[in-house]
Amino acid sequence: MSDCLFCKIIEGEIPSKKVYEDDTVLGFEDIKPNAKEHYLFISKDHSKNVNDMSEKNPDSIVHVYNAIRKFTRENGLEESGFRVVTNTNRNSGQVVFHTHFHVLGGEPLKGFGA
Ligand code: AMP
Ligand code: ZN
Repeated sequence: MSDCLFCKIIEGEIPSKKVYEDDTVLGFEDIKPNAKEHYLFISKDHSKNVNDMSEKNPDSIVHVYNAIRKFTRENGLEESGFRVVTNTNRNSGQVVFHTHFHVLGGEPLKGFGA
């Protein structure tokens, strides 16, 4: 059994509020939202971060971004806008080492020149 929190969410061992699922990607609500809408998109293939993901299965990056594109288009975020953030290792503050893409929106977002 995996010790990874997000693998446990994929397996259904830990509950989550799913917002998107296909064969290779899962999207769910972040438990501690940093914006009015805050989702996490992950590949079902375990990797630690984007460096690891690029080496193991670079196609999964495309799958995750296609899923985000589909989800945001179908849930009213395409026109209003959203931000995708991926933390990698210590200086970024990454705490969960299963690669995940934060999708933030639903209100004007501060920072990054906004
Ligand atoms: P990061 O700093 O990029 O590793 O972010 C990890 C994110 O996972 C944080 O935004 C947490 O709020 C979120 N998180 C941690 N545990 C859970 C959980 N059980 N369900 C949903 N989101 C979670
Ligand atoms: Zn994992």
